[in-house]
Amino acid sequence: MRLKISITGVVQGVGFRPFIYRLAKDIGLKGYVQNDTGGVTIEAEGAESLLTDFLFRIEKEKPALSQIFSLRHSFLHDKGFKEFVIKESDKEGEIRVSVLPDIETCDECLYDISTKGNRRFNYPFTNCTNCGPRFTIIEDLPYDRKNTSMKYFRMCADCEREYNDPSDRRFHAQPDACPVCGPFITLINPTLENGGMGGFKYQKDDAINKCVELIKEGNIIAIKGLGGYHLVCDAMNETSVRILRERKQREERPVAVMFADIESVEAEAHVSMLEERALCSVERPIVILRKKKGTRLPDSISPGNDTIGAFLPYTPLHHIILQRLKRPVVATSANISDEPIAKDEDDAFKRLSGIADYFLTNNRKIVRRCDDSVVRIVAERQIPIRRSRGFVPLPVILPFRLEKPVLALGPYMNNTIAVGIDDKVYLSQHVGDLETPLAMEFYEETVNDFLRLFNIKPEVVVSDMHPGYYSTIFGEMHYKDKLVKVQHHFSHILSCMAENDIQNDEEVIGFAFDGTGYGTDKTVWGSEVMTASYSGFKRLYHLRPYRLPGGEKAVKEPFRIALSLLYETFGDASEFDLLSLSGKERRFYTDMIKKGVNSPLTTSMGRLFDGVASIIGLKHHVSYHAQAPVMLEQAAQRSDEEVKYEFRIEESLIDFRPIIQEIVRDKRSEVPIEVISKKFHNTIIEIILSLSESLRKSAGITKVALSGGVFQNAILLTGVFNKLNERGFTPLIHQLVPPNDGGISLGQIVAGNFQR
Ligand code: ZN
Ligand code: ZN
Ligand code: FE
Repeated sequence: MRLKISITGVVQGVGFRPFIYRLAKDIGLKGYVQNDTGGVTIEAEGAESLLTDFLFRIEKEKPALSQIFSLRHSFLHDKGFKEFVIKESDKEGEIRVSVLPDIETCDECLYDISTKGNRRFNYPFTNCTNCGPRFTIIEDLPYDRKNTSMKYFRMCADCEREYNDPSDRRFHAQPDACPVCGPFITLINPTLENGGMGGFKYQKDDAINKCVELIKEGNIIAIKGLGGYHLVCDAMNETSVRILRERKQREERPVAVMFADIESVEAEAHVSMLEERALCSVERPIVILRKKKGTRLPDSISPGNDTIGAFLPYTPLHHIILQRLKRPVVATSANISDEPIAKDEDDAFKRLSGIADYFLTNNRKIVRRCDDSVVRIVAERQIPIRRSRGFVPLPVILPFRLEKPVLALGPYMNNTIAVGIDDKVYLSQHVGDLETPLAMEFYEETVNDFLRLFNIKPEVVVSDMHPGYYSTIFGEMHYKDKLVKVQHHFSHILSCMAENDIQNDEEVIGFAFDGTGYGTDKTVWGSEVMTASYSGFKRLYHLRPYRLPGGEKAVKEPFRIALSLLYETFGDASEFDLLSLSGKERRFYTDMIKKGVNSPLTTSMGRLFDGVASIIGLKHHVSYHAQAPVMLEQAAQRSDEEVKYEFRIEESLIDFRPIIQEIVRDKRSEVPIEVISKKFHNTIIEIILSLSESLRKSAGITKVALSGGVFQNAILLTGVFNKLNERGFTPLIHQLVPPNDGGISLGQIVAGNFQR
């Protein structure tokens, strides 16, 4: 096993490379450490447990003077290093680490804010050269104070002295500030803004104290953070959480919880070593954890769900609030439904006035919005679910060089865009679903922002093939003569190949399983089994097509898909008693399916999971994306059943009908849904293994790329990953960009380079 690590930070000239060398030797690893333009690159080979240990110890034992601004890592296949060496610096590759991500508060700054008598005691905007806002305050390059939203604050004499003193930690710290000269917070009662009905305004430390008091009383506060506003309330107060949901129109999708420290996370959830590393990492993402049985968190945090999204404070303000509050808070993006997160005061007051009781705001402008990132540890790997704050805008390094600068416009759901130059791809922050006018506006801003920030004039522009995606339409409007359209599932596989160091002449087997993507035959795909290289793909297998009665509506109502699967399997679904529908309703939908009225064909794997969840009675209506598959996965987690269902593969079709038949039989004979779910998962795993075997035989390929949102499913990914390994395949999974559509833009950049 090989572990590849890319560290950005103060890691040159502080004894970092010798430290890595000694640590690697001590553990018994082979590979190298090398300085590069933004920090160091490390590749180490050895047994998996040793590599995990290595990863864990780097951050714990690093030299005192070093600072890590970002640590990205992935586990890859072996290269066969002979010993561990310190390699000479790579002089090629121009310096393009012009913009850093926002960095969590460093230990020294934490000391400053918690030490009485320090001039930054309790100051929520404390930062230094090693920490603080970057990406979210930069207006222009070079990164100087006058090009950030800190330009409106004139440094006091004390701050100026630090700023100009090369021996000071705040030497040339662009966002440096103190209580005398820097930004400050204000607590606003919105009724004051709307005509002054007994409102109030608290400032600075009084505002924090009042805010803490209001949270304790059960209020919902919109708190301005790094990349936008959070909606915050007491996570232990069931009523507050429920009211927040109602006002935000978020019925059941889990909301993230911010804890003061790792110990308080461990009181409510199971935390493995890698999960602890992720929680404490400088990127401070939301980590999806399994709830503990006796957790005191109310069910409304993640209704009917075995997991919670937990994260730790990453700004001084978060630290101060949580220290005083002494209990965890819900901290969820401040928006309604799927709109972009609110970042400006006007916008926040307008959009959030019906949601938040109070606003804890400040006078430092957020230049660009950036949502919290989300990761999940699966199969001992850190899988990004949303790659945003903390990770953006550092590049993904390609295993080859791009011939021309490329712009990738991304997909429709979970959109990110990307720009690529040389061997670097800069993926944008999470833009989200391009559904609302606000999202489209944010999307256009982001495209222009990235082109400007990285000074790129794209010669190739790539979009999805879907003619209705706003990103495709945008491409046709602005880049018609440079536009290349790339099939969605091929983009998924390309992104997985690129982050796994696949070379130009290599071929892989690819499984791209997701909810939806436009096919070259203009139908909705989503279960593509292909062989692929960077220059093209062959679609070899996919699910037997079935209809989606009502089209997009079926996504929100899995019972429609259930009826369709039952119809395909039994030739009629109108008399089916497994679904809680009236006879009239069943006949209505069955008729739609039979006649193909407003019922497009699909081969979507995600929808198959939806349909199965409904057939077994788990979920007939969903309130957020992929809710039914999440529930199906969690039901399966509770079973250790190893049996699988029969399936048939004929020509290029994966026939789901025998599976549905047996599921119905099991359901009728009252087999527990946990067992049925597990058997269904086992079956999909077996399908992947069996197709991999046959493609290895026919095409001689052993590398298997797994991409698409369905591979966020932990049972599926772990099962496939382990079994492929056991059988001598090299499974390739996502560790740098999300397997869902958030990673599509990376694949599009690759396609833009090879497909012209
Ligand atoms: Zn600091
Ligand atoms: Zn000052
Ligand atoms: Fe997709």
